[in-house]
Amino acid sequence: MDIHAVDDSVTRRIQAMVQRVQGLKEHDLYFYNQPVSEIRGGAKVIVRGREMGMYASYSYLGLIGHPRINAAAKSAVDKYGTGTNGVRTLAGSLSIHTELEETIAAFKGAEAAITYTSGYSTNLTVISTLMGRGDWVISDKLNHASIVDGCLMSGAEFRRFKHNDMEELEKRLQQAPSDVAKLVVADAVFSMDGDVIDFPKIVELCRRYNAWLMMDEAHSVGVLGKTGRGIEEHFSMEGSVDIKMGTLSKTIPSVGGYVAGKKELITYLRHASRAYIFSAALPPAQAAAANESFKVIIDEPWRIAKLQENTDLFINGLKAAGFDTMLTTTAIVPVLCGSDDSAFALTRTAQHNDVFVLPVVSPAVPEGLARLRATITAAHEPDEIRRAMGVIEKAGKEIGIIQ
Ligand SMILES: *Cc1c(COP(=O)(O)O)cnc(C)c1O
Repeated sequence: MDIHAVDDSVTRRIQAMVQRVQGLKEHDLYFYNQPVSEIRGGAKVIVRGREMGMYASYSYLGLIGHPRINAAAKSAVDKYGTGTNGVRTLAGSLSIHTELEETIAAFKGAEAAITYTSGYSTNLTVISTLMGRGDWVISDKLNHASIVDGCLMSGAEFRRFKHNDMEELEKRLQQAPSDVAKLVVADAVFSMDGDVIDFPKIVELCRRYNAWLMMDEAHSVGVLGKTGRGIEEHFSMEGSVDIKMGTLSKTIPSVGGYVAGKKELITYLRHASRAYIFSAALPPAQAAAANESFKVIIDEPWRIAKLQENTDLFINGLKAAGFDTMLTTTAIVPVLCGSDDSAFALTRTAQHNDVFVLPVVSPAVPEGLARLRATITAAHEPDEIRRAMGVIEKAGKEIGIIQ
């Protein structure tokens, strides 16, 4: 039987992508979806039989595989099984879900919290539920794709401001009609550059212009603040964020997303957000793992201190070698390469020397700003970090990124 073949622009887009992937693979420049067969202690992975130092992990506090978290997941399977009978509103709400939401609310210093099955769907559903036609959503230009998609999906007026530029944000706020609802949304730590939002100023502007403030804390929970509670703790400005969004898939070694905030806000989202009403609940094992993770963070504060020490070691070392690490002060460390080719070459050499890093190239970042995007965790040992820096420095000289 003949396969039904459509000849149109969709088919051509598919073919173009398939050819691009094929070309990269032929040149040993394809770094997506590498088969990790084993995760060892968070900072090491086995890829194609070789042990590599892991510098692309979001497990910032090194919690993947933590015995307490694994045990919590296992006992949740014994207690509840593996599924949830479906959506929360009908038959799928388990006591572990309620417990997790209480844990998150307490950790974030909020009245209540709601969870969803991914961070991505959390941003989609929360922004599009709260905002609608006629309202204004104002977003940093470097915000995560899930925020952008949520803003587009909302149907609200969508305005952006230059990355971390508070003067431009103020202009946008002034452009909005005074009688419309306004939401300002930004990453607390930016996922490509590792820099921190100008939090005191964004809070002040939201208050002055009567706008809601939503912070995506995917890369700041466990990273910022003395006890890892994120952006408010980092600036000692507790109670400043209206919508505290985060993921359960990075520092928290599970899957899912959440929003913490005022009780009324959470009640509203529970009864109006479509990803909650029309999509199945988090599996019990993942809810229990996430719940235990927050407790481990509180019980093991040394992890946060060690992450900061490791981060400083790595950033200062790369700078001393002559690399441009842009404005990062956090565990996400861009290593500027310039051209896409340089970023690919540096990645390939690093990987051949068992340093697992990944490149970020155009169109994900502007042309000429291609980079490695390395991440540091509390699971790394200083000696390992020094070895990785040695590899990156040697390769950077060979390729001509540094002198
Ligand atoms: C990873 C990430 C998300 C999405 O989280 P998932 O749980 O992986 O879906 C949202 N926002 C930011 C800033 C992220 O980095």
